[in-house]
Amino acid sequence: MALIVQKYGGTSVANPERIRNLARRVARFKAMGHQIVVVVSAMSGETNRLIALAKEIMPEPDPRELDVMVSTGEQVTIGMTALALMELGIKAKSYTGAQVKILTDDAFTKARILNIDEHNLKADLDAGYVCVVAGFQGMDANGNITTLGRGGSDTTGVALAAALNADECQIYTDVDGVYTTDPRVVPEARRLDKITFEEMLELASQGSKVLQIRSVEFAGKYKVKLRVLSSFEDEGDGTLITFEDEGNNMEDPIISGIAFNRDEAKITVLGVPDTPGIAYQILGPIAEANVDVDMIIQNTGADGTTDFTFTVHKNEMNKALSILRDKVQSNIKAREIVGDDKVVKVAIVGVGMKSHVGVASQMFRTLAEEGINIQMISTSEIKIAVVIDEKYMELAVRVLHKAFELEAA
Ligand code: ADP
Ligand code: ASP
Ligand code: MG
Repeated sequence: MALIVQKYGGTSVANPERIRNLARRVARFKAMGHQIVVVVSAMSGETNRLIALAKEIMPEPDPRELDVMVSTGEQVTIGMTALALMELGIKAKSYTGAQVKILTDDAFTKARILNIDEHNLKADLDAGYVCVVAGFQGMDANGNITTLGRGGSDTTGVALAAALNADECQIYTDVDGVYTTDPRVVPEARRLDKITFEEMLELASQGSKVLQIRSVEFAGKYKVKLRVLSSFEDEGDGTLITFEDEGNNMEDPIISGIAFNRDEAKITVLGVPDTPGIAYQILGPIAEANVDVDMIIQNTGADGTTDFTFTVHKNEMNKALSILRDKVQSNIKAREIVGDDKVVKVAIVGVGMKSHVGVASQMFRTLAEEGINIQMISTSEIKIAVVIDEKYMELAVRVLHKAFELEAA
């Protein structure tokens, strides 16, 4: 007997028939003698619909109230899933995040899980129930409803698996595993049987939304056995995220995958006199407002002034621009502050980079041959990411996928 957490994404619960299908899979696992916790997302499109409704009332919705609204999507699907299981004669009980006691901080719309009380779930599992838990939501110390950021049901799944010490966390989605890149953009993309935790973390952080980054972080921290599988097929082992350090083999592919992110926006602070403390004066107020910054570059020209560029989430570009224009610009005597949300980030990821040279130059040459201008670059030991004009995104991903020989053999 194993304890398995199965997380089902939006397309897997898109309508009653899919929910019945999900219930039939859970029934098969139950019949094998396993204890099952099911985590569900809202029906596909529902979270977007709720956000749009909020924006009709208030263009930049108050985050606490937004969370009250968007968390309802998952409350519908846990009830439906529990009903579908009951219809198959299986004991099932639904739980909202608050009912489980998934405690988060109070950063509405992007809260972090602080603690999970597993006692109620354990007691119900031992009593033979399938527990159906709402993904994406939690509760802060004051009892406010919080949500975990887009794609956050993955994190609920993995965090529950960690808290319950589950044998495996299975992420069921609309693709049958993790691919070399998004198969919707590059049809030649290849499914990977396994991928290292390190690489998955980079792919997720660079924008591969097949797993939310925090879910991968949780899996790493608590060594949760994590697998991505298709909810539409019963065959296949999907992709396993591996932890064993197999060392660097010269035969390994240099690049394992390509990620892209359409959600970033670039902010440039132009003509700042180059003095110590500038980076802090610019980014301090941004951090205080809880706006996450991704890439940063600073260039000092011959005239002694600096241009300071960084990226933030597109949704937060206007907030960041107002902070800079209202509170920072005059203090640091910046000439101009401009925002550009017509950019994307494309990143190549692979542990093989550690043992190979020339990967960056091959990437830059490939992009140059297509006339694609690189606006920003950032690297880590196993990643090279570039910011480019959004109109070149698909082209860039396709030519890089080919150049690094990632297509199906
Ligand atoms: P769910 O609703 O099940 O959570 P998501 O839409 O969040 O599903 O994530 C699955 C999607 O992730 C796929 O449909 C695919 O388009 C996209 N995706 C992006 N990068 C990859 C990748 N490297 N491998 C597989 N899927 C990817
Ligand atoms: N329903 C939420 C979203 O659309 C959470 C999730 O699907 O993981 O982002
Ligand atoms: Mg998702």
